[in-house]
Amino acid sequence: DTTHGAILYLEDITVSFDGFKALNKLNLDISVGELRCIIGPNGAGKTTMMDVITGKTRPTSGTAYFGQTFDLTKMTEYHIADAGIGRKFQRPTVFEHHTVFENLELAMKMNKRVKPTLFFRLSAEQRDKIDAILKLIRLEGHHHRPAGLLSHGQKQWLEIGMLLMQEPQLLLLDEPVAGMSDAETERTAELLNELRGKHSIVVVEHDMAFVTEIARDGQVTVLHEGSVLAEGSMQAVQANERVIEVYLGR
Ligand code: ADP
Repeated sequence: DTTHGAILYLEDITVSFDGFKALNKLNLDISVGELRCIIGPNGAGKTTMMDVITGKTRPTSGTAYFGQTFDLTKMTEYHIADAGIGRKFQRPTVFEHHTVFENLELAMKMNKRVKPTLFFRLSAEQRDKIDAILKLIRLEGHHHRPAGLLSHGQKQWLEIGMLLMQEPQLLLLDEPVAGMSDAETERTAELLNELRGKHSIVVVEHDMAFVTEIARDGQVTVLHEGSVLAEGSMQAVQANERVIEVYLGR
């Protein structure tokens, strides 16, 4: 077992851009059902790491496995998404002219595991699933609204809901609370805490108050100069001298 039962396993991943190492022997091991927060200063390599996991960037060297069978270094972006890695980018991308409900319905119909056509009626079970997601993403009362009329935070939640409709094995969230109000950030933390244990999730985030709320008993990984500087509980990494130095720029 090369991946030690991990859902995501990166070993010595290096990404060089003209000799500059955006990632430098990065190691990361995410267990099934884990919610992992990844933090680190600008330029630490967080985006490059997400790009490697989703096949957008090919590593120069190293090993990257999704589950036991998928060698991410040999797959296209399309096949990686199809294999069950869902990524949410910073900017929400919803169908603005469709209602909230229709957005979730479209996301469900794009899920290959459900049915290979856009034209079919929803079963009672599928409606129930959409209703459950609407509740989770705090948009029950807004299901008839065009998505374009939602607030920035609501669009972000809708996009998380759309990703969940596709039943990903691993959910990657890129700065999910960027641009959100404090109240929306708080609700996003609640939402992620509800997903805890049910999904394997990797969150890259700058907002430390938010990270503290969702890290709970979980592990936090601190990236710096393309590799892992520290890893452990939020309390442990906050007290780590090397982490403090990097964040205070000393
Ligand atoms: P983060 O997301 O943590 O801010 P990035 O992964 O975006 O960090 O970037 C890591 C480093 O790699 C940065 O110094 C960045 O300038 C560099 N970098 C990222 N992408 C490229 C690229 N396509 N070409 C050259 N350098 C890049």
